[in-house]
Amino acid sequence: MIIVMQFGAPQEQIDSVCAVIKERGFEPLVMPGEDRMAIGVPASLSPDDRIFLEAAIGSLEGVSKVTQTSSPYKLASIEFHRSRTSVQAKSATVGPGSFSVMAGPCSVESYDQFKKAAEVVKKSGASILRGGAFKPRTSPYSFQGLQEEGLKIIKQVGDEMGLATVSEVMSADMVTLVGEYVDILQIGARSMQNFPLLIEAGKSGKPVFLKRGPSATIDEFLLAAEYVLSQGNPNVILCERGVMPLDRSYTRNTLDLAAVPVLKEHSHLPVIVDPSHGTGVARYVVPMAKAAMVAGADGVMVEMHPDPKHALSDGSQALDVSGFERLMSDLKALAPAAGTRL
Ligand code: PEP
Ligand code: MN
Repeated sequence: MIIVMQFGAPQEQIDSVCAVIKERGFEPLVMPGEDRMAIGVPASLSPDDRIFLEAAIGSLEGVSKVTQTSSPYKLASIEFHRSRTSVQAKSATVGPGSFSVMAGPCSVESYDQFKKAAEVVKKSGASILRGGAFKPRTSPYSFQGLQEEGLKIIKQVGDEMGLATVSEVMSADMVTLVGEYVDILQIGARSMQNFPLLIEAGKSGKPVFLKRGPSATIDEFLLAAEYVLSQGNPNVILCERGVMPLDRSYTRNTLDLAAVPVLKEHSHLPVIVDPSHGTGVARYVVPMAKAAMVAGADGVMVEMHPDPKHALSDGSQALDVSGFERLMSDLKALAPAAGTRL
């Protein structure tokens, strides 16, 4: 932590900052600058110390600003966990060394629809099957998903095809139920800061696929991951899925691909990109998936539907079967140049 004093702050004001730091049990380091003083707290601060000092010092006379020099998250940070994490779900591994493709329809609509999608996923060599059973829809009048019936279809098809599965859980009280049917619990963008849900998913010990909230900063995203990790569950996969756009007339969200190298620099957790929700337009999915691979992502999640025109949700961003096959062949061709394999 570094405290920068206002220009010309007198010695008494510097002394009172130092007194607060000493009272909390730390040794302040006074650093004279060209035109103002700075005071450092050269120690590893607990979250409580950090919050206390920030509040106690921030309001003192003569203080210009208080800045943090280490990250607010610990378990998610690469500083405290130097080796990169791989998350295992059935035979699928998400993490460094290979590029994972998670694919399937936005919503599970019927056994036949989901089975058809799963066959395409399996044949293409992708390793994880997605499908929503509980759907977070903007309108209560939109299709809400097949719910438990959908979970049963996911389990049956996943078992038949030998594919790991991922599906969204929307509330803390549903974690056990969804966890009985799927291999990876998805926490959707709208739920990224549903703290009781994060805690419950953490307690379950199951792999958690955490999507970035549409207006979440990187720190907020990693602190959400920290909630899951702090329950003793190390199996967290981060997903960038686009943030609030300036202009919705062309894309649904703005896919923040810069978040990939940023997250990789600050965290050891695997990073997946979702170009389907990230753009909202099927024809932009392939270019952005390739861009994600080049940016260093550990994989992509894409929506694919055997008949996108009749999809019950997100049809306009779903790849059809041939679009998905083209995606897979483009990614396979690109992988060596991007330093990964598929
Ligand atoms: C989804 O994956 O279908 C979904 C609802 O995603 P998001 O939470 O990113 O909107
Ligand atoms: Mn969707």
